[in-house]
Amino acid sequence: MIESPPQQLARIAEQLQTSGLNAGTSGNASIRLVDGLLVTPSAVPPDRMTPESMVELSHDGQPRSAGVPTSEWRIHAAIYQQFPEAGAIVHTHSTYATALAVLREDLPAFHYQVAKAGGHLIACAEYAPFGSPELSDAVIAALGNRRACLMANHGMIAYAPTLDAAFALALEVETLCQQYLIARSVGRPHILSAEQMDDVLERFSQYGKPTP
Ligand SMILES: [Zn+2]
Repeated sequence: MIESPPQQLARIAEQLQTSGLNAGTSGNASIRLVDGLLVTPSAVPPDRMTPESMVELSHDGQPRSAGVPTSEWRIHAAIYQQFPEAGAIVHTHSTYATALAVLREDLPAFHYQVAKAGGHLIACAEYAPFGSPELSDAVIAALGNRRACLMANHGMIAYAPTLDAAFALALEVETLCQQYLIARSVGRPHILSAEQMDDVLERFSQYGKPTP
């Protein structure tokens, strides 16, 4: 069975809850549509969300269906506009990513999997109020050429071609932040060099391709 975009969003909203990435009504997700975006609703607990709860918006935020969109729809629209390869987005206030974001620190290359986001580190975006155009600008700047970033005193955001891949990347970022903060709390983590991370990025780009 092929899931419709609203069905996918309802399933991921539930997975965000059961995985522990989101609690209560924090966090949100979206899917790119041909000429707009489909986002999770504002202030609806995930256990009450259904495919019908999802809200369709034009690129500039005009509602095309009933319901109130997440107050953070602006960041989603900005990411789709900036990155053509973004097909879906997951945003969380998950505990360890937020803990590092409160310190306003980037996640350095303490583990090779940091390259999963597409670069040598996962940057932390500057603080701006939730839902503001300034926050969208800060997130776009922190993403740079990567697919995930932390958000100061707020949480994190990840995008990918598909919603399942965006969820997997968000889960990866949360796990990495947990590992990094545990290591930091008992010692000084070794950080991989730029050369070592370039090597990992090269290996990731070849991963799964047939050997010539
Ligand atoms: Zn948020």
